[in-house]
Amino acid sequence: MNADKLSKRLETVVSFIPEGSRIADIGSDHAYLPCYAVDKGIAVSGIAGEVAEGPYQSAVKQVKYSLLEDVISVRKGDGLEVLNQNEADCITIAGMGGALIASILENGKDKLGGVSRLILQPNVGAAAIRKWLFENGWELKAEKILEEDNKIYEILAADRGNPKTPYNQFEREFLLGPFLLKENSPVFQQKWEQELKQWRNIIEKMKEAGDSPGLRERKAQVLKKIDIVEEVFDEKGKRT
Ligand code: SAM
Repeated sequence: MNADKLSKRLETVVSFIPEGSRIADIGSDHAYLPCYAVDKGIAVSGIAGEVAEGPYQSAVKQVKYSLLEDVISVRKGDGLEVLNQNEADCITIAGMGGALIASILENGKDKLGGVSRLILQPNVGAAAIRKWLFENGWELKAEKILEEDNKIYEILAADRGNPKTPYNQFEREFLLGPFLLKENSPVFQQKWEQELKQWRNIIEKMKEAGDSPGLRERKAQVLKKIDIVEEVFDEKGKRT
C-alpha cells in the first residue's frame, strides 16, 4: 500500500483542504486521502470513517503503515456518526454517488456544527449535492472537473455562507454546476455529450418498452435534462 502518490482525483480533493485543517474523510476505504493530507502537512489531524469491515481494516493498516496512528483515528460507522462534536472542521466525502453523499450529510447534520468546509466528489449525480448544499446554508465556492482512467469526476467545495451566491439560473446550474458551466472546459463538454448520448438511448429504449404512468414520468425527467443540456450547448455554439 502506498499513500505517497494519490490519484489525480483525490489530489484535487486534497487541493481544497484549507491548511491546518482537522479533517474527517468519510467512506475513506484505504485512508489514502487523510494519510496523504496529514503526511504533507496540509491537515494537522484526520479521522477516517468507514462503514464496511474490509475497507475499515484496510484503513487501519494504511494508517499504521504510514506511522500516523497518533494523528489519524480510524473509526467504523455509518457516515458522520463516527464524529464527535467539533472534532473536525473540514469533511471530505469522495468516490460515492451524489445521492448517497447528500444523504450522509442530511443524516449527520447535527455533527456539522464545527465544520467550515465540505469537499465532495460524487462519481455521479452531483446535482443532488448542489441541491442539498443550497437548502442547508452552504455556499458552493469552487468546482473542478477532470478525467482520469477514462472516467470524468466532479469535485465540489463549499463553505458556510450565502447558498444563492454562485447561482443565476438554478435549474441548469444545479445540473451542470455554476462554476463548471462558466468554465466550459473540454472535459465538461465531453461529459455532457456522453450524458446526452446515454439519455437519447434511454429515450429510444423507453419507446420500445410501451407505456405506463411511471415510464411516462421517467421519460419526462430524462427529456427535461436533454432540453437543459441541449439549450446550454446551443447557446454556447456547440451543437451536439
Ligand atoms: N473515498 C475513497 C476514494 O474516493 O477513493 C473510497 C471510495 S469507495 C468507492 C466508497 C467507500 O465508501 C466504500 O469503502 C464504502 O464502504 C464507503 N461507504 C459507503 N457508504 C458509507 C457510509 N454511509 N458511511 C461510511 N462509509 C461509507
